[in-house]
Amino acid sequence: MARTVAEACDVLLRDGGVAHIRPLCPSDREALHALITRSSPHSAYLRFFTGGTTSAHVYMDRITGPRYPGHALVALIRGLMVGVAEYIPRPDRPEAEVGILLDDLVHGQGLGTLLLEHIALDAADAGIEDLVATVLPENRAMLRVLNDLGLPVKKQYEQGQVEIRIATRPTDSLVAEIEARAHEAERSSLAHVFTPCSVAVIGASRDPARVGHRVLRNLVDGGFLGPIYPVNPRAVEVCGLAAYPGLASLPGPAELAVVAVPASAVLGVARECARHQVRALVVLTAGFAEAGGREAERELLRVCREAGMRLIGPNCLGVVNTAARLHAGFLPGRPPAGPLGLMSQSGAVAAALIERAGLLGLGVSSFASVGNKADVSGNDLLEYWEDDPATRVIALYLESFGNPRRFGRIARRISARKPIVVVKSGRSASGSRAVRSHTAAAATPDVAVDTLLRACGAIREDSVQDLLDTARLLAFQPLPDGPRVAIVGNSGGPQALTADACERLGLVVPDLRPATAEALRARLRPAAAVGNPVDLTAEADAADFAFTIATVLADPGVDAVLIVYTPPFGSGLEETREAIAATTTDAAKPVLACLAGHDELIDGRVPAYAFPEQAVHALAQAAGYAARRVRPVTSPEEPPGIDLPLARRVVAADLSAHPEGRWLDEHTAARLLSAYGVHVAESVAVNGPESAAEATALTGLPAVLKATGPRLVHKSEVGGVRLDLQTPEQVRQAYREMSARLGPAMQGAIVQAMAAEGTEMIIGGVAHETFGPLIMAGLGGVATELLADRAFRVPPIDRAEAGRMIGELRCAPLLHGYRGRPEADVRALEDQIVRVGRLMDDQPDIAELDLNPVIVTPGGVVAVDVRVRLAPAPPLPSPFRRRLR
Ligand code: ADP
Ligand code: MG
Repeated sequence: MARTVAEACDVLLRDGGVAHIRPLCPSDREALHALITRSSPHSAYLRFFTGGTTSAHVYMDRITGPRYPGHALVALIRGLMVGVAEYIPRPDRPEAEVGILLDDLVHGQGLGTLLLEHIALDAADAGIEDLVATVLPENRAMLRVLNDLGLPVKKQYEQGQVEIRIATRPTDSLVAEIEARAHEAERSSLAHVFTPCSVAVIGASRDPARVGHRVLRNLVDGGFLGPIYPVNPRAVEVCGLAAYPGLASLPGPAELAVVAVPASAVLGVARECARHQVRALVVLTAGFAEAGGREAERELLRVCREAGMRLIGPNCLGVVNTAARLHAGFLPGRPPAGPLGLMSQSGAVAAALIERAGLLGLGVSSFASVGNKADVSGNDLLEYWEDDPATRVIALYLESFGNPRRFGRIARRISARKPIVVVKSGRSASGSRAVRSHTAAAATPDVAVDTLLRACGAIREDSVQDLLDTARLLAFQPLPDGPRVAIVGNSGGPQALTADACERLGLVVPDLRPATAEALRARLRPAAAVGNPVDLTAEADAADFAFTIATVLADPGVDAVLIVYTPPFGSGLEETREAIAATTTDAAKPVLACLAGHDELIDGRVPAYAFPEQAVHALAQAAGYAARRVRPVTSPEEPPGIDLPLARRVVAADLSAHPEGRWLDEHTAARLLSAYGVHVAESVAVNGPESAAEATALTGLPAVLKATGPRLVHKSEVGGVRLDLQTPEQVRQAYREMSARLGPAMQGAIVQAMAAEGTEMIIGGVAHETFGPLIMAGLGGVATELLADRAFRVPPIDRAEAGRMIGELRCAPLLHGYRGRPEADVRALEDQIVRVGRLMDDQPDIAELDLNPVIVTPGGVVAVDVRVRLAPAPPLPSPFRRRLR
């Protein structure tokens, strides 16, 4: 197994504090002795049994001595050594003894669990299969920690001691346990930010134009219930509150500090906060990494980490939690309370979003502008919102992904319960990275973001306006069970636009059930059209609307109702609003409206949009989200016949011969792919006309001849491919002609059997630098780039997902008997996509690959041209290892 990054790191404790974990070094000796001296004799007894404190001191000398045979990690909190864990390998067996000693002061914070998690991962990396702990039965705390770690445990009682054996191999249940623990710690730590008991505003200016003043004003006017401490050495009073010259003079502790002092003073303030046990900082001040001050930002983070303070910003607009009446920022207004959890990487976008959301009746549960994201990022906030009861919809405005893989894991878990709506700016392609595979060229960062968001069930929007449109439907209405929409309105034009938009965005406008249509006809004016859309005509009054809405809601063939009302006609705006409100209070299906020209929230729950397309867009997003959400999120089963060790050996051998990586030759590429059950056409390498002719004895006839050479990328473009050669003589002749045309660029050739006629598809894979592996399926052959008909996914995927990929392609009908073609073996194609996905997921050193074309016939599939590039991948941070960035 690859090493999972064992250097020093910061970790979050159960109570939200921060500890530092790192390998032990000899200079830790003093601190370790001090730890023993501070420990009670009972703790020493539990760890060292009858030897007690004396053994403990001897042990500390040994563990820091030159011949120590084990591996030890230490933990520090606020610079104080508070724990040490170790394992000592046993000779001749892949197992090790494990031991841990914690400071009495830190029991109950989950530090023991964290140290053991890290020790177990280090041990697994070092090839140790079992860790064995010998524990006294009365050491309940330790027994519980070992038992609950999430790794398989075996217990044995012997001579008054318990021997516990832990298998170190990381398991799915370990991931689940670790994620649950990380989640709890994350939430506790952000509680210091969002629900502090007290707030200090450092740099609380008397000048109303200054940020420091505006924050204080917002806090005061917002009605924060705990004490607010303005800190300003030159003022006695600010905003009607007593001001203090520094943290030392505060009458009580400050849990959260909002910092609005000049950049040059921020570090000093942070250190002062650290000394006074502040638990979280919101640094509004700009002038850090965004302005070249990377070093200062690093130091700020270091100070915060060492003191166990979470840090929002720097260079941000602040935080809001309406439930706690905490308005700790300098937004222009104070957002009303509501269901939206909002994170923005841009202060300006945040300000606009909040303002507009408020106008639309969409209030905010909590908001954070994360600025430079030195510590707290969108991922952390997701963890906080996951079980925040006030947050029903999460909205993110992102400019970058700090850790896309972690985002993917968290967002996937959360979006099964709460929708996450994302606007990611920077959709344009990055451009210039030189790539030779179609797949890598097609997988622009934007495509990668799309694919990632889709994989985790998040909803992507192009604009903040779309985000708000979708968010207010999700926040106030139930999810649709399906795509079928009933449209009810009073004028033909807007209803036609609505129906068109539905069709465009994948919604369905079905015929109403006969019973529904009859009920409508019996009651409505004769001029009304009782199809779908139901056109009540301009004469319709509010009662017509009410009756019709209730009737179509009851139709079992309808999943959602969209009311399209044009105000000048009929009943009038106010009566229509009332009718909509009165008939939909108990609706179990989503109801939304387009009131021409009016963006609003009817009765605090039915979203209304100015234009039909907005309403349809929101509904289509909700329906897509609902459909994805019901799919189970299990890991796909592994297809049979995968020889993972063989593939690893092929990759390792090639990388050891070419440490920088390279484009694999045909033969090696085919071996690697075949190990995963990918069907690659047999190719015989030849080096001249004679051997080419002879090769047909192996491949059979008709045959194909292809030139090879490192410079030959698109062979057919330069005449390097000759198809359908009927005799050995034709092959010989083709070789001569090719070699004459291509000259030294042609270093040899391969001979293949001519595949049966079929549909040419492409299957590809790319290991994206930041986003991880992606796989692609699309229309293949020589026009693949031109037609750009392709679908991407994050592997691994199952066959059903592969089927959906194919279904998304415009060329899909070609596989299904389009215009009298034979029906292709789509299941075989799906299987190949699944296998390539597995390969990309399992082998991070495959940088990119193209199988183009994969020829799909009624009888199966075969890849006739494969290109694979290896490049050594940096070790991944393990999902098992809990650590702060
Ligand atoms: P390149 O992509 O470098 O131009 P390919 O090996 O993909 O070269 O060949 C180009 C085209 O020739 C393919 O798209 C396919 O139409 C056809 N072709 C190549 N090999 C075979 C084969 N073994 N059987 C049938 N057709 C083939
Ligand atoms: Mg090709």
